[in-house]
Amino acid sequence: MQGDNDQLASFWMPFTANRSYKAHPRQLVAASGMYYQSGDGRRILDGTSGLWCSNAGHCRPEIAEAIAKAATTLDFAPTFQLGHPLPFELAQRLAALMPEGLDRIFFTNSGSESVDTALKIALAVQRAKGQGTRTRLIGRERGYHGVGFGGISVGGIVSNRRTWPGLPGTDHLRHTHDLARNAFTRGFPAHGAELADDLQRLVDLHGAETIAAVIVEPMAGSTGVLIPPAGYLQRLREICDRHGIILIFDEVITAFGRVGAATAAEAWGVTPDIITMAKGLTNAAVPMGAVAVKRDLHDAVLESVPGGIELFHGYTYSGHPLASAAGLATLDLYAREGLFERANELAGYWEDAAHSLKGRRHIIDIRTIGLVAGIELEPRPGAPTARAMELFHAAFDSGLLVRATGDIIALSPPLIVEKAEIDAMFGKLAELLDRID
Ligand code: PLP
Repeated sequence: MQGDNDQLASFWMPFTANRSYKAHPRQLVAASGMYYQSGDGRRILDGTSGLWCSNAGHCRPEIAEAIAKAATTLDFAPTFQLGHPLPFELAQRLAALMPEGLDRIFFTNSGSESVDTALKIALAVQRAKGQGTRTRLIGRERGYHGVGFGGISVGGIVSNRRTWPGLPGTDHLRHTHDLARNAFTRGFPAHGAELADDLQRLVDLHGAETIAAVIVEPMAGSTGVLIPPAGYLQRLREICDRHGIILIFDEVITAFGRVGAATAAEAWGVTPDIITMAKGLTNAAVPMGAVAVKRDLHDAVLESVPGGIELFHGYTYSGHPLASAAGLATLDLYAREGLFERANELAGYWEDAAHSLKGRRHIIDIRTIGLVAGIELEPRPGAPTARAMELFHAAFDSGLLVRATGDIIALSPPLIVEKAEIDAMFGKLAELLDRID
């Protein structure tokens, strides 16, 4: 089908209302630091780090130079039964940033691939430990774990699951979102730690000997900034320990400084067995993901086979030279500019600015942690999600990029954001909230 605008017809856009976009395209053509430039020449303040990924701001020359150098030195080399130096170096650097013990790194090209890799590793570990009956994978309602078959099966977003059969043998914890008890919280909501006991309920239902792993986002981003209740993640960890269940944190959004440390696991003091990452790993300049695995889990898989390939899994581009070079330059930047600490330094200012919107029209909740804010709007009667989408469009048209997910506006600016830009973001939102119906 050719749309109104034939030049745009061929690109079947991901997670996009293609017909409506192509009727009213909004293009980005350049970026620098905190700003995008739109196709019609306007500066757009980036309130979302692209898609939660350009944590050090856009078009950083150090990263661009590293990519260019890699492209002209070794454009590609296989990592199947061969190697090249960059991914070894990056893995070592990344391992040093992970919580104690998670120092074995598998490279992928995206968050979705990291999730599917983590789930496959969890199954391989259980099998290697003689626990082959443990094949069940547990996720959580309103979880987003990318779009692979593994990810949608443990994920809990209905639109991602409706069209496709998920994997058999999965189940879900309830989500923790509870406005009745937790509206307008700063940091961890006070209520809901007991929802972690859902895992015990599933153990009682299915038998621990059938459950391989549970995967959660420490903070769910894509479904609208769902912050874990105080004590929830700790309780999940305890139940996993009690029953030999592997705990996976999907940190595709939360890793690399978003909540004030290299990982949410570190920031919030709960150590999972496996961490998935992507996005901020390369500042999004080249696609790359990674999975950090506890050394004893890794060793169990290696020791379970007498010789030869231990894990029949990998991608042509695992540890790609350009991505690895971008990753190394990005980690350098994060360290040099102290960007992981920056979310902590700015968190108070950010929180006050976000919560200053309380009382504005349509707002039923504001929640903040690190450099993240979720602003939940009352759904328009008969037209859920329409209000937030309208706000997203109005913001873009007036020079601010926000993210609309359901009836929630999510904000997660690059970690280089300045206070004046924080003021500009929330000032603009205040103005627009008064304007839209
Ligand atoms: N996991 C989480 C927690 C995410 O937020 C995302 C993307 O937003 C993904 C996985 C999927 O990542 P990708 O789009 O790179 O496949």
